[in-house]
Amino acid sequence: MKVLSRTSSHIATAVGLGAAALFWALDLFVECRYFHPNSTCLDLLLHPEPGRMWVRLLASGLLLLLIIQNTILLRHREEAEAKDAHSRFLLEELTIGLGQKNEALHHEIARRKTMEKALQDLAVTDQLTGIYNRRKFDELLNLQIRQETRYPRGLALLMMDIDHFKNVNDRLGHAVGDEVLKELSQLINATKRDADDFFRVGGEEFCLITFCFNGGNLETTAEKLRSTVENHDFPKAGHLTISIGVTRFKPDDDHESLFKRADDALYEAKQTGRNRVVIA
Ligand code: GH3
Ligand code: MG
Ligand code: MG
Repeated sequence: MKVLSRTSSHIATAVGLGAAALFWALDLFVECRYFHPNSTCLDLLLHPEPGRMWVRLLASGLLLLLIIQNTILLRHREEAEAKDAHSRFLLEELTIGLGQKNEALHHEIARRKTMEKALQDLAVTDQLTGIYNRRKFDELLNLQIRQETRYPRGLALLMMDIDHFKNVNDRLGHAVGDEVLKELSQLINATKRDADDFFRVGGEEFCLITFCFNGGNLETTAEKLRSTVENHDFPKAGHLTISIGVTRFKPDDDHESLFKRADDALYEAKQTGRNRVVIA
């Protein structure tokens, strides 16, 4: 742009000089032709009348000044345009850069949200079985109790415990015991209703939060789980059984009282022979 600006001003200066020379030549021609027809143009150029000489110099000078002023203005304008174009270019570069940074930021936010969600899931998931853990159980049971107090839906709690599980570990090893815990979790997960929430709350203890207004249906639900396990053939451990303690939510229940009643019912199931359902 600067080169262009210089070229334009050089052209303007040349035009100015040319115009001054032309004015000089025309004036000389007119003087020679109409005022001194007996003299040659060269004579008049080399020996001008003093007054005429001053008029020519003044006119040429004024012409030159005018051209120089225009040249400066032109140059300034061209430089301003060049600066403008450069600023626009920088602005475009900046806009593109900002757009790229914005996109990268969106990606980073999405990545962090995914990571945050994964961490949240990890915090409430039992690492061995992949089902909800005790932390999630406490959180969800408290929530369901609060909702049940306001909008009764027949909240009930089932507590399950594998019978003589210690024998599995002792006979077949801890790794097989782990396999059994995983398989049993999958089995119950596949048997329970979708709306029910299933948790591992201890070593070989599990809980199910369910909703049922009818006591008979509740017993059927628990019996179905018990018999499903009883009839299942675990690849390495063979046949196993579970005992289940069941209780329904009662007004004024809190987490502790509801949990204790289910635990007591489970204890009774163990005491009265195992592989059974006790409803408290
Ligand atoms: P009961 O019928 O009275 O419930 O007898 P039980 O043997 O099942 O109960 P007990 O409380 O005597 O033993 C529970 C066993 O569960 C002992 C413990 O080693 C085992 N256990 C707890 N957590 C895990 C685990 O994550 N993996 C394995 N493999 N075993 C576990
Ligand atoms: Mg047990
Ligand atoms: Mg136990």
